Amino acid sequence: MVGVPLGRDYDQQECALARALEVVGERWTLLVLRDCFFGVRRFADLRAHLDVPRAVLSDRLATLVDAGILERRPYAPGREEYVLTDTGLDLWPALFTLARWGDQHRVGPAHGRRRFRHADCPDGGADLAAGAVCPACGALPGPASLETRPLDPDDGEGGRPPREDAVSRALRRPHRLLTPLP
Ligand SMILES: [Zn+2]
Repeated sequence: MVGVPLGRDYDQQECALARALEVVGERWTLLVLRDCFFGVRRFADLRAHLDVPRAVLSDRLATLVDAGILERRPYAPGREEYVLTDTGLDLWPALFTLARWGDQHRVGPAHGRRRFRHADCPDGGADLAAGAVCPACGALPGPASLETRPLDPDDGEGGRPPREDAVSRALRRPHRLLTPLP
């Protein structure tokens, strides 16, 4: 196909990866999902932690809700928060693997690495290894049974000074995934 402008979706691609990228491939979407796995649920907290423009965040959240990856859930009269569905939770190994690749090939050894430990491990627990597998018990634990911690709590991601929003401060301590933040 010559001369056809490149669209924002992948309709011409007969590939499951293209179907996945239609809903998670836009800028900011994976970071929004990462925060949802951490337990961030509210629009204002996502905005404060990500510094994403309001309109962009609204758009990404709407796409994720339409795709059945997030659901809106009331937490007070007239107020809603965003929670991962089972479909969304299935993205965990992909997100972990992408972050691990970033650690190894884009970040470098010194900065900003985060660890995920199998807190509910029957064999004592260990930091997840390749494939989001627990090296102690050999299982692929679900996110609810994982605890995350920064390798160096005083180091911002990528060696920048640490951020001071409420989510960033909370994530300096060990934190169980999916437990509401901040
Ligand atoms: Zn384990």
